[in-house]
Amino acid sequence: MRRVRPPRAGGPGASLARSRALDCYDRAVNLEAVIFDWGGTLTPWHTVDAASLWSAVCEPHYPPAEAARYAAALLAAEDSLWRECRASGRSATMTALFELAGVTVTEALLASYIGAWEPHTFTDPDAPELLSRLHDRGIQIGVLSNTMWPRSWHEDVFRRDGVLHLIDGAVYSSEIDWNKPHPAAFQAAMAAIGVTDPARCVFVGDRPYDDVFGAKSIGMRAVLIPNDDVPPYESAAPDAVISRLSELAPLIESW
Ligand SMILES: [Mg+2]
Repeated sequence: MRRVRPPRAGGPGASLARSRALDCYDRAVNLEAVIFDWGGTLTPWHTVDAASLWSAVCEPHYPPAEAARYAAALLAAEDSLWRECRASGRSATMTALFELAGVTVTEALLASYIGAWEPHTFTDPDAPELLSRLHDRGIQIGVLSNTMWPRSWHEDVFRRDGVLHLIDGAVYSSEIDWNKPHPAAFQAAMAAIGVTDPARCVFVGDRPYDDVFGAKSIGMRAVLIPNDDVPPYESAAPDAVISRLSELAPLIESW
């Protein structure tokens, strides 16, 4: 919880300063949880060349012509599933992706896939200190990600980067029926960390529609970390915009 140094008794403006300090303390105490998006938020945004990635995944496991065919099928299936997710609001899984592409999954193929993704998954270096600082103030830490990946892959990433123990609860949309911005996804994330009042939650994400619009729609406060690739959504007005995670704790403490 936020601690506020009391003003010196009797000093000029002490009464006003004390009033402001207590207001600030009350607001900080009212904040119960911060819930983070993953891609582009807890892991910094960068572009992934999906066609090259799928080629790199398939090439070690098939003759060249077959590898090219499977890589193209997986790329098309992934694109199709994400378009379907955006249109319907529903979630998808890696199992559905491989089935749609007509590719039989093997452990070796999955290992190549996870290996190809590794350079794109590293946690923001600002995250461990931020999450620890929020924890020290008694704030619950949640994660809500639109993802086809199973929980174990995400947890392996967080464990590798030393932050898994700082996350109190997470919801990966591959485990539920809906993606952000559906209210059910945000409600599931709140349930995962044991909070019931969205007004006492802050959501942090990089997508104006999925993250900001979704969070604001159920009554959370929303902080946007923008990037040049994610499309705008004019109806979503974040409560604040930050350029890096290290700006979040001072922002929250100023509310
Ligand atoms: Mg994101």
